[in-house]
Amino acid sequence: MKANIAASLLSADPLNLERDLRALEAAGVPMLHIDVMDGHYVPNISIGLHTVEAIAKNTRLPLDVHLMVERPGDFLPRLRGLCAMITVTREVLTHPIKILRDIRAMGCLAGVAIEPGTDARTLRPLLPHLDHVLCMTVETGFPGQRFIDSALGNLDALHAMRQELDLPFLLEVDGSIGADNIALCAERGAAWCVVGANLFPRNGGSIAEAYAQCAAALGLQ
Ligand code: ZN
Repeated sequence: MKANIAASLLSADPLNLERDLRALEAAGVPMLHIDVMDGHYVPNISIGLHTVEAIAKNTRLPLDVHLMVERPGDFLPRLRGLCAMITVTREVLTHPIKILRDIRAMGCLAGVAIEPGTDARTLRPLLPHLDHVLCMTVETGFPGQRFIDSALGNLDALHAMRQELDLPFLLEVDGSIGADNIALCAERGAAWCVVGANLFPRNGGSIAEAYAQCAAALGLQ
């Protein structure tokens, strides 16, 4: 199965969000990834639900909402009908199976994200309840980090468990991914590669060029 690119809006220009959204659409991005933060699980605040609602109303692209928040259950009611995929952070969940069922009951694909320092093998009891697992390749919520190569070991572990248990869940990666390392993630079994800052060049390049480079690295064009 070929990997695909989900474009993260985290690095879009907040004062020109619609301009950047249209540029991503024109570039051919198949899905938007939105990091929602709460200032508690992570110290930053990014895109809130109000903005997610506005984006959902103004694009036909499916939304992949990544809740980097302490209390993801509080966020679910307002996401109903807005997104295709919802990812909650494993490290905050006391009752993971319940929230995954709640997400599926909303008609969304349900996934958990794990930090680079979490051993993916601990997810084994959850795997039948998951549509996807997001392996973070940087620590959640801190911009400008270097890609953590050792996190790829989690992709290997999940890929092995998926085959052993014959389960259909997909793998996703997120964190400092660009044209130079995206193929590496795909080779390790990632179906969705979240690309953020590297789609928004700060030195004169365009979103279309940056997307084309990542897509070419995956053999998509
Ligand atoms: Zn994310």
